[in-house]
Formats: sequence, structure tokens, C-alpha cells
Amino acid sequence: MNFGIKALAFAFLCGAGLFSCDTSQNLSVDDAALRATDGSDGNWLTYGLDYAETRYSPLSQINAENISELGLAWDLDLGTKRGIETTPLVVNSVMYLTGPWSKVFAVNAKDGSLIWEYDPQVSGSYGERGCCDVVNRGVAFYEGSVFVGAFDGRLISLNAETGKPNWEVMTVDKDKPYTITGAPRVVKGKAIIGNGGAEFGVRGYFTAYDAKTGDQAWRFYTVPGNPSNGFENETMEMAAKTWTGEWWKYGGGGTAWDNMAYDPDLNLLYVGTGNGSPWDRNQRSPDGGDNLFLSSILAINPDNGELQWYYQTTPGDSWDFTATQHMILADLEIEGQTRKVLMQAPKNGFFYVLDRTNGELISAEKFTYVNWAKGIDSETDRPIEEEWARYKDVNAMIAPNFDGGHNWQPMTFDKKRNLVFLPARKTASVYGQDKSWVYNERGFGTGIGWNLSIGEDPSKPTIKDHKFDKLKGVLIAWDPIKQEAKWRIEQTTPWSGGLLSTAGDLVFIGTPDGFFKALDPETGEVLWQVNLQSGILGSPVSYSLDGEQYVSIAVGWGGGYGMKNKHTPEILPGHLYTFKIGGEKALPQAPEIVEKQIINPEWESSEGEFTTGETLFWQYCGPCHVVNGGGGGVAPDFAYSPMVGNAAFNAVVLKGALLESGMPNFGDRLTEKETHAIQTYIIEQVRMVSK
Ligand code: CA
Repeated sequence: MNFGIKALAFAFLCGAGLFSCDTSQNLSVDDAALRATDGSDGNWLTYGLDYAETRYSPLSQINAENISELGLAWDLDLGTKRGIETTPLVVNSVMYLTGPWSKVFAVNAKDGSLIWEYDPQVSGSYGERGCCDVVNRGVAFYEGSVFVGAFDGRLISLNAETGKPNWEVMTVDKDKPYTITGAPRVVKGKAIIGNGGAEFGVRGYFTAYDAKTGDQAWRFYTVPGNPSNGFENETMEMAAKTWTGEWWKYGGGGTAWDNMAYDPDLNLLYVGTGNGSPWDRNQRSPDGGDNLFLSSILAINPDNGELQWYYQTTPGDSWDFTATQHMILADLEIEGQTRKVLMQAPKNGFFYVLDRTNGELISAEKFTYVNWAKGIDSETDRPIEEEWARYKDVNAMIAPNFDGGHNWQPMTFDKKRNLVFLPARKTASVYGQDKSWVYNERGFGTGIGWNLSIGEDPSKPTIKDHKFDKLKGVLIAWDPIKQEAKWRIEQTTPWSGGLLSTAGDLVFIGTPDGFFKALDPETGEVLWQVNLQSGILGSPVSYSLDGEQYVSIAVGWGGGYGMKNKHTPEILPGHLYTFKIGGEKALPQAPEIVEKQIINPEWESSEGEFTTGETLFWQYCGPCHVVNGGGGGVAPDFAYSPMVGNAAFNAVVLKGALLESGMPNFGDRLTEKETHAIQTYIIEQVRMVSK
């Protein structure tokens, strides 16, 4: 990105901590500031630090030499339950971050005191509309206002000084299961936000609103609607030619639920889109087709919302291989030429380097274990799929799976080393068609079966040819020029938080087992770590104030994976931690471990109840709960739930006793007879576990 000599000199002095970076406290966050920012003035103005989304802090006062002296400066109890996936912003000495249920906190970045808190009062009944917990990934800041996308689909502008709403606008059809978890971006005076819900049958889009008034400027649909209603524009008419059947009845999907990037010189806004609804193309678009613009990277003119180019990472997606993952813009020397690139590691397991001026594929290589495609064909720029990969009439073990070779967790681009640090993972699952699948407007629907096996048939694809023992996180230092790993380190858990790299020769990461770590970017060696006692999903940021550099991380376990799993003895309430050199505050003590008893209620079941209960369990309970004695995650393991086998179960499941904490009220969909069958299934599972 372009910035002048003055900015460079300033960056150097501030970064080295040689003088107080006072502009960090009186900056006007306008278009010019957002275009120019790279974090060198001490602020963190936009989700990915800069419009290029590098998450590379040029600050270096905290560095590999003095990292052992890094200590807690201040902390703040956020008092929240459920997952925290936020990236805090720091603007003029105030930190703005989000928690579960789209709550926003403004905190004094110097001492951690709470300035204001804003609760958008999202109804607990929305809890069941999300696949992956009621998380939020952060806010945008522009000209004295803070913008948050609320879980129920509102975009809200808040006065940054008071936390009082300036305006709010409903961005979705309230009768459809749309949700917002991603952070808005503000580009040229427009606040831009997408949405999620492709597992629940929605049609994806993203919308730009005037940041001052909330008036809609434009909307871009990511998939075509019903052709008989007419198309919104020529782009949708073109896209509809790549679909077959009656996809619009299932929404189609393609939701833009997370990442964006912006190149001010090219005036292109990049947006990643998600999977199809339902996942199985055989059922969504039965005669095939690429199904534009699922799983695509779109380049949009932010002035009018018109498509300039697109690249589809997974044509005709059948696997929930979203391309909503983090995109980073950089200028790289490739084969003797400086190329303006866009880099993405989407769920499908390939690391893409595109020419961001025109969408041309420069290169794509596997960054993790991938079996569904042999590679990306350099002639057609398309994946070379295995013939069984679309699991038509065959169950297939597919790697990566719907959790992705990489998911929403932000990467970071070390500008000094031209390395991308990537919180990847090895995943695999059996995919097979659910031939009895019917579209259910209110349920999680993928068109693939639950609990499938690949059986003993040797012709069916397995991953036995690979040392694939269990699901694991893999932290990778990726060289995007050579398209190979400089190093990769297997993590002890399958999930992680986002990443931050700094000019202090450090990479920061939080892990599900509660550790916040600083690593050596050359080797991945852990140089420093602290135990924060609760699983970490959030992304670290760095800023400086009055000549001192800080590193912050918000901690709160949850998310899709965290609903059913945890890697610490207990899950603690949401908490914000900020570190500096010489910080002396005490770290959290290990929490007292609460011993739980396995349930063993008196219970009478009747013939056939187990099978009915199993089906209903997987439809209603299994998306969040386990019955395995492992303790579960944010949602309790039923093996320990005192509610199973007594009246409390029906009070919760049929009467909504825990609705406000997000546990759905299934009273309109289940009967007492059915909840009896579910409990029969649960109790039978508990008896197997306790044997
Ligand atoms: Ca999805």
C-alpha cells in the first residue's frame, strides 16, 4: 500500500517507541485515515488493522528480545457467557470490542476501565438461528460512530462517545433465519455488511448503507432468486444459467458472513461468499452447474455495488467449502514481476494467490491434507475432482470437511518476511446423501445424512492412505510466493483463535486450552505464554498509547465447535486481557473444578422409542449437545444433566425455560411423547458411556 516518506519516518519512530505517538489520541477517522492506516500511529482502526487486512502491526517495542518481560497491564471482566470471536479496535485511546449476542463494549485502552456498554437486546429465540453460537467478530469505526451487525440482522450505528444509537436498520427479512456474526467495514462513507444462514435455507447478499443516515446505497445478491420473479440485474441473469432445478426454494445460500478487503487504488471491494443451501448439489441443483456465486471471491465497485470480476474457488460446492475466509492483499515479487495479489486459504484446503486487479489465478496449492481434488488445473483454473467426491450413491470420507482446512480465524501477513501465518487444521468427515431430505424452513438442513459410515466396501473411498489419526489444528508459516510451508506445527487441539504478527518479530495466538502465546516467526517456537484458564477464540491486537505498546486478547469459549467441546477444565465468563512490557498484574488463578455426577434416573421406555429418539436427538439436540461423558462445551453434556429424566427437561425443551440464554423453545415442534423418546435415547447413551 502507498504511504509517504513522512508516514514512514513516523512509523519508524512510533514503532520503535522513541516518542509519544500523540496522534493516536486525536485522529479523525475519515476516508483518508482509513485508506492510510497501517497501525503505525498506534491505533487499530479497522477489523484487519488495515484495508489490506494484514493484521501485521508495525509496532516493535514488544519484541523477541524483551518478550519474557511481557506481563498483564490490565484486565476486564466482561461478564458474558458463550463465545467471543472479536477483534477489538483501538481508536484515540478507546478500545471497542464485541461479545456474545452482539454486545458492544467501549473500554479505556490505557487502564481497562469500562466507558460504556451497549446491548442490542437480541431475543434469546434467535439462538437457534445460528449454526455456530451467538458470536460476533467486531465493529467498524467511522467519523465518531461505531457500527455493529446484530445477530438478529440489524446494522446499528452508535455514538462512539456515549454508546447511544444514532440509527439502526433491519438488513434482513425477519421471517427468514438470517443472522449476522461478521464485522462491518466502512468504505467511502458506506457501511457494508453481509449475513449468514446458508445451513437454514437463505439467499445470500451483502448491502451498503450510508454511514451517516443508514439509507441503503446498494445490495449485491450472491445467488439468483426465482427466475419467474425477474432478475435484479444482468449479473444475476448470468449467474442463473449456472443453476438447475428449483434452487430458490431452498434459498441457494452463498452467504457473505465474514470477510472483506478493500484496495483504494483499484477501488475494489473484495467479498468472500459461502456454501450452497443445501450442501448437496445433487439435491440443490440436480443437473449440476457451477452455481454462481457460491464459494467465490467477488470484486465489487463500492460506489455502485457492481461486480467487476469473480473467482469461484469451489465450483458447484457440495461440501460446505465456503470462501468467506480471510483475504489478505499484498504486493509480491512473483517470477520477476511485482504482482498485486489477493491471498485466501478457504475451507477447501487450497491456498490461492490471485491477481487482484482482474481475478486471474496466479497459483493454488494444498496447505493441508486434501483428498476431494487432486489439485487445481492450471489450464482451466478449476479443481481436478475425484470422481467419488460428490458422494452420489456412495458415502465418501472427504478431507477437509465442513469445518474447513481453515475457517474464519484470521491469518496474518508478516510484511518483513512475506509469510502468511495460517491457523489451519486437518479435518475429514463422511459425506453421503440423505435421500429422504426435505427442506425444513426452521431446521439445520444440509441434504447429507448424520452418523454415516463408509462400511467395508473396499471400492468406497477412505483416507487410510494417509497418516490421519485425529482431527488436529496445524499452525503454518506459508510462503505465498513459493506456495509451500516454511514450517508447520501440529497443535494440541483442533481449533484456535486468530493471529497477529508484529514488527517485533513475534506471532501471537490464543489456543482452546487457554494459552495466549508469542511465537518466533522463523521457527514457530513458543517464546512466551500465559495460561488464561479458558479457551481462546478471539484475535489479538496491538496498539500504543503515550509511548507504550500493548497487546490485547478477548477470551470467551464457545463457537460452533465450542458448543460441544472444551479443552480447559472449566469455561470462565468473557474476559479482556491487555499486556505490556513490565506489566505486573496477577494472572487468573486456576478455577475450582466442579465435580459432576453421571445421571442415572429411573426410566421406563417403550418399544421403538430409541430409534425415534435417536432421529429427533440428531435433529434438535445433536447440533449443540453431546452425550459422551466428556463434559461437553458451552452446551452441557447430557450425561451430567440433572434435567434429563425429570420434569425440568420438558420445562426447558417444550416451554422455553432457558430461552433467554439461547436454548430454543421446541414447544411448537415437539410433543411430550417425542421428548420422552429423546430422553430414552439419551439415557441409553449414558448407560453405554458409564459402562
Ligand atoms: Ca456453512
